Amino acid sequence: MNLILLGLPGAGKGTQAERIAQTYHIPHISTGDMFRQAVRDGTPLGKEAKSYMDRGELVPDHVTIGIVEERLQKDDAGGGFLLDGFPRTEPQAEALDVLLKRAGRTIDAVLYVYVPHDTLVKRLTGRRICLRCGATYHILFNPPKQENICDRCGGELYQRDDDRPETVERRLEVNQKETDTLVRYYRERGILKEIDGLGTIDEVFSRIKQTLGDVTDD
Ligand SMILES: [Zn+2]
Repeated sequence: MNLILLGLPGAGKGTQAERIAQTYHIPHISTGDMFRQAVRDGTPLGKEAKSYMDRGELVPDHVTIGIVEERLQKDDAGGGFLLDGFPRTEPQAEALDVLLKRAGRTIDAVLYVYVPHDTLVKRLTGRRICLRCGATYHILFNPPKQENICDRCGGELYQRDDDRPETVERRLEVNQKETDTLVRYYRERGILKEIDGLGTIDEVFSRIKQTLGDVTDD
């Protein structure tokens, strides 16, 4: 099964990706891992990507797409794959279609794990860290017994700048734009599957399994 996974930060995409990969015996191909591997292997494209990353520049599409193509040709992706973090743009999505077509393959489904904006903000701004001992908490998932006080040492808890609402909102805005473009692209092609991302990890995963069951039955 050839799959793409879409979802905003905080949607629980990484966790679901691992479950999908295990259950369907396909590699979870995340862009970050793929770049690191290509750089480690020292392939020509890996070297080219590294030269951009070392200068703090964006890796251009032709390099990224080449790395994706090499990765999809590896043995473990012969029976399918789960792409996570690629494509990010419409030109990348088009390039992916071209390279898959060349290999006689198609995408079976694009899973979009959808979580309402307010919930994402709550999840992404909930982390608190102890000033004294560094213990981490989350006001929804792992709250301290007493508000703003560390259970372990009684120290005061604080919120990192990265977790502040303004920063989180900006991050979500950029990601939402990218995701909307891809959602539109794949919806037009009839392969977009929206997954309700609210609830427990098991609940979300059972929705994914049900959706993929329908895809395989087609
Ligand atoms: Zn503490």
